[in-house]
Amino acid sequence: MADNKNIVILGGSYGGVSTAHYLLKHAVPQLPDGDSYQVVLVSASTQVICRPACPRALISDDMFPQDKLFVDIPPLFEQYPAGRFRFVHGSAVKLDHADRTVSVQLADGQKETTATIAFHALVVATGASTSSPLMGLNGDENSLRAAWSAFRQALPTAKSIVIAGGGPTGIETAGELGEYLNGHAGWLRCKLDNPKVAITVVTSGAQVLPVLRTSIASTAEDYLARVGVKVIKNTKVATVTPPEAGTTQATLTTKTSLTLSDGRTLEADIYIPAMGAKPNTGFIDGSLLAADGRVQTNASTLRVEAAGPRIYAIGDAATFARPSVHSIINAIPVLGANIKRDLLLAAGATAGEDRVFTEDVRETQLVPIGRSKGVGAVMGYRVPSLLVWGIKGRDYWLWTTGGLWSGKQWAKES
Ligand SMILES: Cc1cc2nc3c(=O)[nH]c(=O)nc-3n(C[C@H](O)[C@H](O)[C@H](O)COP(=O)(O)OP(=O)(O)OC[C@H]3O[C@@H](n4cnc5c(N)ncnc54)[C@H](O)[C@@H]3O)c2cc1C
Repeated sequence: MADNKNIVILGGSYGGVSTAHYLLKHAVPQLPDGDSYQVVLVSASTQVICRPACPRALISDDMFPQDKLFVDIPPLFEQYPAGRFRFVHGSAVKLDHADRTVSVQLADGQKETTATIAFHALVVATGASTSSPLMGLNGDENSLRAAWSAFRQALPTAKSIVIAGGGPTGIETAGELGEYLNGHAGWLRCKLDNPKVAITVVTSGAQVLPVLRTSIASTAEDYLARVGVKVIKNTKVATVTPPEAGTTQATLTTKTSLTLSDGRTLEADIYIPAMGAKPNTGFIDGSLLAADGRVQTNASTLRVEAAGPRIYAIGDAATFARPSVHSIINAIPVLGANIKRDLLLAAGATAGEDRVFTEDVRETQLVPIGRSKGVGAVMGYRVPSLLVWGIKGRDYWLWTTGGLWSGKQWAKES
């Protein structure tokens, strides 16, 4: 494969898997000498998951069909001609953008080895890790399953749960746990008195769900109260003892003492830090990163201009848009077209103009609260609870991932 021109994609999730399909369908076959190109997808996990489902999936394997929730990556690409695609199970540990190589720590059974892969084009799609190991593929699929397993063992005896963070991850998790552990308040009651498990959300914001307007956020609080969740606003978690509580497999269900910025103290049988996420960009030179750790990306073209030619970034690791699946899906055709254009030009062929991505910044966020209620807005329009349930709350977008992972979503060049 020494003569291959590698199009290396780092990270096998929404950004990486979609980019790989798009290029294999619409770019590589149209390049002069297309057989000399290989799309190389490098990912720390051999499976891809429907990440938004984590707040419910963490409770029990019965919540979702596991074969739809966790999907093996390599078979998804068997549809392409032999040699066009290669999957590498491992983690990028060093990007040398000047020499145009990436070093990958291979997850090779017992032994761990490093491989250096030269690239003709590179896409960074390594996403972001959450503080809590319960919310995605911070490591591989086995470590996520192990985290859920430890959490589930502690759940039946937990009497108090504290969740830090009033964003969608914290609110969805609180709603799911509230309903699962406490049930609902009666029809005419607006609040569940004496819930079996005390569940508290602590947020520094003046409202939960800061992306949504205040009236929607306040409905979310009402729904949370109905499943026994209390919200403390305008308050930060000041100290956590032990400090690593909730952030590692070993401390996932450690009893935790918290002090809040207003001086209050809380004791938790389980503490879930659900605020912030850290971009997985530690392997990239600091000169290419924004202050928040994401790759500094041209938001219109998705090129990482400071890194050199044919280097791109998409998804939560990139500054192109707010972290969300819908931004990624909207940007894939633009990224695909611009990569194709750059590859054509590099091959001495002619190519059209750049395509330009524009983020849709209208109020858009759907937040299920338990298995029958939810709040949200789409493109600036408030969405009623029943519709939030129908679109997202029923199965947390699992209805969308089949087409994304198989590539059917990208059948047409759009
Ligand atoms: C709990 C939760 C709920 C969410 N709900 C929604 C929602 O309802 N709607 C919505 O639009 N968005 C939602 N999001 C955001 C959405 O999940 C992300 O925007 C999306 O997953 C980002 O995709 P990505 O491809 O950038 O990377 P990620 O999904 O973060 O995946 C990154 C991949 O790269 C791999 N990787 C990491 N480091 C390396 C490395 N060094 N080398 C190789 N591989 C690496 C990881 O193992 C992983 O497979 C949610 C996020 C969370 C955490």
